[in-house]
Amino acid sequence: MEFKKAIGLEVHIELSTSRKLFCNCNTRFGARPNSQSCNICLGRPGAMPILSRKAVDYAILAGLALNLHISDYMSFDRKAYYYPDLPKAYQITQYYQPIGVDGYIDIETNKGPKRVRIKRLHLEEDAGKLIHQPEKQITKVDYNRAGIPLIEVVTEPDLNTAEECQTFLEQLRLIALYLGISDCKMEEGSLRCDVNISLNSKDSKLHGTRVEIKNLNSFKAIQKAIEYEFERQREILVKGSTIVAETRRWNDKLKKTESMKKRDRGDDYRYMPDPELPTIRIGDKRIKHISLKMPELPATIYKRFRQNYCLSEKDARLLLSIPDLARLFEACLLEYNKPQVLCNWLTGDLLRLIKESNTDIKSIKLSPMMIKDLLIMIDNGLISTTIARKVFIDMFYSGHKPQLIVERKKLAQVTDQKTLEAVTDLVLKQNKSSVSDYKAGKKKVLSYLMGQAMEKTEGKANPVILKEILTSRLDQSKS
Ligand code: ADP
Ligand code: MG
Ligand code: ZN
Repeated sequence: MEFKKAIGLEVHIELSTSRKLFCNCNTRFGARPNSQSCNICLGRPGAMPILSRKAVDYAILAGLALNLHISDYMSFDRKAYYYPDLPKAYQITQYYQPIGVDGYIDIETNKGPKRVRIKRLHLEEDAGKLIHQPEKQITKVDYNRAGIPLIEVVTEPDLNTAEECQTFLEQLRLIALYLGISDCKMEEGSLRCDVNISLNSKDSKLHGTRVEIKNLNSFKAIQKAIEYEFERQREILVKGSTIVAETRRWNDKLKKTESMKKRDRGDDYRYMPDPELPTIRIGDKRIKHISLKMPELPATIYKRFRQNYCLSEKDARLLLSIPDLARLFEACLLEYNKPQVLCNWLTGDLLRLIKESNTDIKSIKLSPMMIKDLLIMIDNGLISTTIARKVFIDMFYSGHKPQLIVERKKLAQVTDQKTLEAVTDLVLKQNKSSVSDYKAGKKKVLSYLMGQAMEKTEGKANPVILKEILTSRLDQSKS
């Protein structure tokens, strides 16, 4: 029997507001445990939540970017469950009146473009974090994360493969990055995903029973979990048994999913409207105001990179993957209109230096003007590409203009005929055996001799002139 996978994702994205959703606590990642918590986010009796306007704006912006219908009214509900990382024993979320419903993202698949429907987007608070220390047999809890705003994006089960899920998530991540609403760092948990997966026979229109896999926090884990779960469910169905509706977790050590809880009674979270948080009318004016702030979205930029600048899929994606890099690229293009050359420098030398020096694009000392000046020096034959790469490194660390570096370090190309002739003669004198090899017909030694001459000029000889002199000298000495 052939099976079809139906996959629906529930993606949690932590919003990068500096304050929490219902209190003024700081949201900085990596702070000392429990240094960023207060009566409100610890759920002490009597503490009153105060909704962050900015978080709502971010969520509406995300809703608009995901083509959702933004609700007229939104409200908050209490989702009751007990867990040590949830001090109130309920999470404030939006159940009955989310920010928006019925949107979509278009993704590229190997079978062509595909529309993935988004069922809903809602705003909710994050829980704290449990820190297990099995060696001491204790678990600690850090409430710094409790109350940080999250949006949850719930798709319809429109995805069919692990690759499609990855593409969808990458696209969603890029959208959030370009909107500037989240840093989307999977490794820090600001982007997390639950995967719902069911199997059914290829020609059935209905979906099978779904199994939910909770809290996957890397692309690799998502892919592995989907593949594992597909196999597990297939084996059960082939045997003629039925799938149990349940929540499972991915065990990364054992590379398998394992059961967490059965869903046979359905989820009973006893959702009820939060009496402390009033219903809010969103209103056209607010939506319009927010939509005016909508930046250009990655899909549009991608199209321009491909069509206007003729970049390859790989190059376009690489540039796009870091919004500041894509911006720098286009700022440089205004100065120097050779997209491929620029792309090579930015995605090659620049990214390497960024990594090496552990900085980000925002804080670099290079300006589009400096980059242009350097590239023009290459074009004009003033320096070779090899030298230019050294100048680039210098520029990157010192912030000096390329002209200054070339002048100070005497890096300009040597084009002077007399100087190059003298170098050539010296090299020929020192490499008599190579010269006789050349005369005997071994033309390959030419590149060796070129290398020798280059070395003598510290790579600064103009290669075209040098080669001309070298060949003419060799051919002369032949006759
Ligand atoms: P609930 O409200 O019980 O959490 P939802 O209908 O909101 O259920 O669905 C939650 C997630 O499960 C969504 O991402 C949805 O696409 C996905 N899903 C629902 N049914 C199936 C199914 N049969 N197979 C795969 N995914 C499913
Ligand atoms: Mg759910
Ligand atoms: Zn707080």
